[in-house]
Amino acid sequence: MSFASADAIRVLGAREHNLRNVSLDIPKNKITVFTGVSGSGKSSIVFDTIAIESQRQLYATFPAFVLNFLPRYERPHAEAIENLTAPVIIDQKAVGGGPRSTVGTMTDIYALIRALFARFGSPSTGLVHDYSFNTPQGMCPDCDGLGMVVTADPEKLVDRTKSLNEGAILLPGYGVGSGDWQLYGNSGRFDLDKKLADYTDAERHDLLHGSGGKVDLTFNKGTWKADYEGLADKFTRSRVKRDTSGLSEKTREQISKFLTDGVCPGCHGARLNSKALATEIDGRTIAEWTALQITDLLEVLGTVTDPAAYGLIEATRVALGRVADIGLGYLSLDRPTSTLSGGEGQRLKMIKHLGSTLVGMTYIFDEPSVGLHPRDVGRLNRMLEALRDKGNTVLVVEHDPDVIQIADHIVDVGPRAGVHGGEIVFEGTFEELRAADTLTGRGLRRTFAVKENFRRPTGELTVVGATAHNLKNVTATIPTGVLTAITGVAGSGKSSLIRDEFMRRYPESVFVDQSAIAASSRSTPATYLGLMDPIRKLFAKATGQAAGLFSFNSDGACKECGGRGVIITEVAYMDPVTTHCESCDGRRFSEDVLALTLRGKSIADVLELSAEDAVGFFTEKALNAKLHTMNEVGLNYLSLGQAMSTLSGGERQRIKLATQLQNTGTVYVLDEPTTGLHMSDVDTLLGLMDGLVERGNTVIVIEHNLDVVAHADWVIDLGPDGGKNGGEITCTGTPAELLEHPESLTGEYLRRYRSGAPAPA
Ligand code: ADP
Ligand code: ADP
Ligand code: ZN
Ligand code: ZN
Repeated sequence: MSFASADAIRVLGAREHNLRNVSLDIPKNKITVFTGVSGSGKSSIVFDTIAIESQRQLYATFPAFVLNFLPRYERPHAEAIENLTAPVIIDQKAVGGGPRSTVGTMTDIYALIRALFARFGSPSTGLVHDYSFNTPQGMCPDCDGLGMVVTADPEKLVDRTKSLNEGAILLPGYGVGSGDWQLYGNSGRFDLDKKLADYTDAERHDLLHGSGGKVDLTFNKGTWKADYEGLADKFTRSRVKRDTSGLSEKTREQISKFLTDGVCPGCHGARLNSKALATEIDGRTIAEWTALQITDLLEVLGTVTDPAAYGLIEATRVALGRVADIGLGYLSLDRPTSTLSGGEGQRLKMIKHLGSTLVGMTYIFDEPSVGLHPRDVGRLNRMLEALRDKGNTVLVVEHDPDVIQIADHIVDVGPRAGVHGGEIVFEGTFEELRAADTLTGRGLRRTFAVKENFRRPTGELTVVGATAHNLKNVTATIPTGVLTAITGVAGSGKSSLIRDEFMRRYPESVFVDQSAIAASSRSTPATYLGLMDPIRKLFAKATGQAAGLFSFNSDGACKECGGRGVIITEVAYMDPVTTHCESCDGRRFSEDVLALTLRGKSIADVLELSAEDAVGFFTEKALNAKLHTMNEVGLNYLSLGQAMSTLSGGERQRIKLATQLQNTGTVYVLDEPTTGLHMSDVDTLLGLMDGLVERGNTVIVIEHNLDVVAHADWVIDLGPDGGKNGGEITCTGTPAELLEHPESLTGEYLRRYRSGAPAPA
């Protein structure tokens, strides 16, 4: 499709990653959704070409000294990218912000609340920064506004099964007879042969927290009188309170084993000092306001009747209303942003922009429906439309048909993944896509059926009396040997029940989520799956060289980049800057090593193979079987040597799964595995989960995707809503039973889905 030039962003000849000379026009001031199987090239177009070039051009307008503080981008591989507008990228990267960042500070709503307390609280100090836990005027002096303090963990300092003479004190440097040990051993307070477990409460307290009196310590050079001090207090004073920045990484790590985070005894977690906490509005302190769930805070706002406060109250109400509108009304303003999920973080970032009055921007979203129950997708759609209607261009990468259907324009990328993708296979409207002969078109025409035969459980795992976060003393029974789906709206308590309560009781279960794999810049699918050793041996055999040479961590590595393929420049205060290594052209190995081949391919050629091609290349049985697992989890398009750090969350999760496919008798917990998956790949995932169950495993899946829910043998639905209005089990049964359930929201959406009804407005 072609648009009058100024009305469209124009991309010509894009070749980033797998893109095959892609050219397209994207209408401005419209919502354009990019669809296609994962690995087809959607992100390569939207993030790696359009977003990067927009940022690059924007930064080019900044003065040089500012540029020193910004990440540098290399020009994307494309002939031309024209008519760009300023980009706002709203992805699922963790919100970050450190321990001082909360939902309130991130959305700027806390600033409004502080202003309210400064002006209308009583007794008020009148100064807005007196109510900030991030300023010296407002912060609690005991925890510096963190709400938490680090203290010695008495349980970890000692081994209760031993006596002092047997070495009960576990701290390094406290060996039996040492100077530090003598403070206790020579104190005369303890029976040195009595096991700590047999101590009276008074003795235990004396050992950890006692004080008073002197103890004689004997050294080679003579004796020394020292003040007695309990072990926990001494450790906290000398090791925890002291500035530890001068200690080595190793020492700090050693010390951290003996520490525990606890709520600050000074402010009980409120983060503020007593002066700030003395101020109240209608009997509540600012800490009590921010601890309320946002939907409740909205009601409390209504009780402030002072006409002078009207303007501030309205501004706060509008801002809080936006958070509630996007389905996050179950959060509280004091929630640390580090505890938010990727989807929650993304929706919060969105809210900030809805309040902005800048127009003419390009907003770029990465699968914003992640973590959203079908009920809340309609609200997300309204937000995307609101951004457009304010005069912005909105680009969305998305798999959920309910989001795709609001697009003004759709770009379908394919036909398949990796080398089989990289082309635009369709451009047009939702109706046209539904009729199109592409994987996405076919996916949209899929019919939906709840299965009829459910597997019989082999036993059950129970969670009794679960109370984490919002859970209301929940007892859940999870059948073994079958596939169980955990459903419910965002904030209903699914993760609290499974990730926190279930995993604590059944720690041998395998939790497969999308979090980063402790991946160094050198790890790749090949290293992660343990393919490198056998591959290196094959190369060694074929070439008569040492196997070690074929590792980019060894002598065989490119000297210039040390085997990274990129040159990494560390810059203070920001992400390191990476540039392509010209010497090896990103191939990571030295020229000599690249000249050595196995069946006509160098080690670098092999690392460039996609998993799919590698299966054909390596017929050796064990290697072939491992490579096959990558294909089984739908990562056939990934190359063996692609840096793990460049994988999406969904890809990371699937590669973790690939290492698990041979197990039996294990309990697996999968956290929203359809993230990043195209409709046509959902069938692959269902087959994979069936395979796991058939091999005698138990699979528990936290999921919103209705195809997955319908495919489960058993469903545990949490609700009825989010936050304090959730935390209960609303329904358990087979998907067929859920379909008939009168109250379950998930059941309601299953019914709508079955009848082919579109998402509600
Ligand atoms: P999608 O967004 O449709 O899932 P991507 O654009 O992420 O697809 O990926 C398209 C192809 O490019 C895939 O084969 C993928 O493995 C490859 N690719 C993506 N990112 C990188 C990267 N940083 N380095 C090398 N290859 C990449
Ligand atoms: P779901 O997985 O269904 O989206 P969660 O279990 O994540 O729901 O959340 C249930 C409730 O617990 C929500 O009110 C949420 O805000 C709260 N919650 C979840 N994690 C934390 C946390 N780390 N700290 C405080 N509250 C939390
Ligand atoms: Zn404190
Ligand atoms: Zn190099």
